[in-house]
Amino acid sequence: MKKNITCIPGDGIGPEIVTEAKKVLDKVAEVFGHEFVYKDILMGGCSIDACGVPLTDEAIADAKAADAVLMGSIGGNTSTSPWYKLEPSLRPEAGLLKLRKSLNLFANLRPAYLYPQLKDACPLKEATGEKGFDMLIMRELTGGLYFGDRKTEEVDGELVATDILVYRESEIRRIAVRGFDVARKRRKSVISVDKANVLDSSRLWRKVVEEVAKDYPDVTLEHMLVDNCAMQLVKDPSQFDVVLTENMFGDILSDEASMITGSIGMLPSASLNDTSFGLYEPSHGSAPDIAGQNIANPIATILSAAMMLRYSFNLDKEGDAIENAVRKVLEEGYRTVDILPKTEENKFTRTACSEMGDLIAERIVNS
Ligand code: NAD
Repeated sequence: MKKNITCIPGDGIGPEIVTEAKKVLDKVAEVFGHEFVYKDILMGGCSIDACGVPLTDEAIADAKAADAVLMGSIGGNTSTSPWYKLEPSLRPEAGLLKLRKSLNLFANLRPAYLYPQLKDACPLKEATGEKGFDMLIMRELTGGLYFGDRKTEEVDGELVATDILVYRESEIRRIAVRGFDVARKRRKSVISVDKANVLDSSRLWRKVVEEVAKDYPDVTLEHMLVDNCAMQLVKDPSQFDVVLTENMFGDILSDEASMITGSIGMLPSASLNDTSFGLYEPSHGSAPDIAGQNIANPIATILSAAMMLRYSFNLDKEGDAIENAVRKVLEEGYRTVDILPKTEENKFTRTACSEMGDLIAERIVNS
């Protein structure tokens, strides 16, 4: 299979971690007989420096022309970087928002998985860490409160701010279909999260999700109120498989879920549209504090590449090969500094970013 991948190395540690993900993809191509052709584009601070804007129209065209986009991370130190003295529409993050909008990426998938080898990093009770968890948050990304009209005006001598939350049936249906499709590839359980005891948009959400569920009799559906979900995530995260939710709830819950894994450098993400196209990136930022030192953890980006194989190229076996290789490297005791337990450092092998990429690539097998 031949696939064209547009890469966005970006800023900070971005170029280092994307290099490692390409290294692993090249090994997958060699072992499984595929061809991956890469084209790098600029986005974020590096694009501001080179072109004066965080994303050019040519870069958008290159992203659209590819089969998928693999990204590192963008942005700099928000207190000291000159990029943050620019007006908001010219700052690094504006490039990413523009790209998501241009590519109509409405479905955001963020897995939160506790590796048994990293269970001590889980900040919850020891018993929760022992039990483990493996969930995927399916967040609607282009509707809801963040995209509604907003205004602040003076009414009767005081300021009044209004943000409007709108969801159309079609927007809910397409993300629900994505959620149930993904659940079929996992443990066949969807928990749909809303605030249907208060919000009309949530009552519509629940109605449409129930309609979609009828086409998936093999997948179980439960509804959960968002406040309860926030509690259940810290009480017993093992109960969740696919969490299907709207934009703002998903924003907050996905950060909560990533926190309880205790290792942000391990978490991939995917943003999909209604074709097989997707943008794949780690859940963390550009970590400018450690950029250029070859100490970043490349695993979140490598696992994002595995998601790309699975969701955009339908190459499940190849995705498994990457995930198995990551597990093996952890079992063998290799750790980048962010996942190295401070009290037991001598039990593990401290591993550089480029070395971690080599070790994972070496363990890719067609089994
Ligand atoms: P961050 O995720 O970049 O860093 C938070 C902490 O985690 C830092 O101490 C960092 O060193 C560490 N860290 C993050 N990823 C790591 C990795 N792979 N390996 C080892 N350690 C890692 O968050 P921040 O400091 O708040 O943001 C830095 C910049 O990244 C900002 O400009 C922010 O806007 C941007 N950002 C970009 C994206 C994106 O591109 N999608 C997402 C979040 C933040």
